[in-house]
Amino acid sequence: MHRCKPCEIEGGIVEYYGNSSLRSWGIAAIVFGNTINYGVGVNPNGIVPRYDQSGFVVLRDHEIAHVAQYRALGPFFLPAYLLCEGWARIFRRINAFENAADNACDPQ
Ligand SMILES: [Zn+2]
Repeated sequence: MHRCKPCEIEGGIVEYYGNSSLRSWGIAAIVFGNTINYGVGVNPNGIVPRYDQSGFVVLRDHEIAHVAQYRALGPFFLPAYLLCEGWARIFRRINAFENAADNACDPQ
């Protein structure tokens, strides 16, 4: 994996690698605006399961889809995402933003 910190990948999207906080949160990556933050040892090109377990996607493609969601909703993204996450956990569903991000990726 090419290591740079940070590294612009395309269209103003910047990636950061090796975020040591993410592992303790139990996540591989997180997006804030135009930035994608990956945890320690996480390969952005890694193939990961879809949230609905119906197939696989490339992690970076999934995260880029979240950047698009941020761009569409601006400051409303984070509260909307968290609301959907709470709803999903209470009713044992998949967060609609995660489903949409998976659907935006080419199946692997
Ligand atoms: Zn996601």
